Amino acid sequence: MDYVLTAEELYKEYKGGRALDGLSLHVPRGAIYGLVGKNGAGKTTLIRILCALQAPTAGEYTIFGVNGRDRGILQARGRMGAVVEAPAVYQELTAEENLRIQYEVLGRREPDTIPGLLELVGLGDTGKKKVKNFSLGMRQRLGIAVALAGEPELLILDEPVNGLDPQGIIEMRRLLQKLNREKGVTILISSHILDELAKLATHYGFIDKGRMVEELAAADVGEGLEKHYMKLMGGDWDE
Ligand code: ATP
Repeated sequence: MDYVLTAEELYKEYKGGRALDGLSLHVPRGAIYGLVGKNGAGKTTLIRILCALQAPTAGEYTIFGVNGRDRGILQARGRMGAVVEAPAVYQELTAEENLRIQYEVLGRREPDTIPGLLELVGLGDTGKKKVKNFSLGMRQRLGIAVALAGEPELLILDEPVNGLDPQGIIEMRRLLQKLNREKGVTILISSHILDELAKLATHYGFIDKGRMVEELAAADVGEGLEKHYMKLMGGDWDE
């Protein structure tokens, strides 16, 4: 199997305890991989480590086959884009201006591709509107456009539908499906909204207390995601 992301025996310790407790992860190329777990299970910590926003206490991870400790990891990270926590966009600028800045940061010289990118994320008609006047869904999609500016093969999204209204959730789902199917982007997405993940994910990783309890393909979740989750994790589901 061709994995774009792996983790083995990953630990993250804080003074108060362990956020990751020997976690493993295997994200196949071309997947929409849903990371499922309760609040505090360790999803954000894992994503922050993969994005180099935090260092693991112990353990290994690879991105496009390159070990996180190797020099080549910077180049491997250049092939991925991420939106972690609030999207990093400038409120006083338009969507297009935000993308122009990101292109400059990346040294990408094709500003004529910006309208197409805005179209792709459904912001093609926002014109002179400043980001501060965008809806939350529009802001999230702009965050994804910024993450896509480097034409990544892998996109990592931490809770992208959090706080979105039903329309925003549907638009986000369609966008992610389009990126996956038409552009071949592999997507790692964390969420605690099971219903939404069930409509989107091709693979799941169930995390609990900093450990990977199970990884499996959506096709192998026979009885439905909710039932499977309850059997696997037990206890209450804290929505
Ligand atoms: P959520 O869905 O609420 O975002 P999560 O699955 O993303 O949850 P994490 O945010 O990764 O979970 O947190 C995992 C555990 O690590 C939690 O118990 C959390 O309290 C703890 N933790 C996270 N960051 C820190 C920190 N900086 N210092 C101490 N403990 C932390």
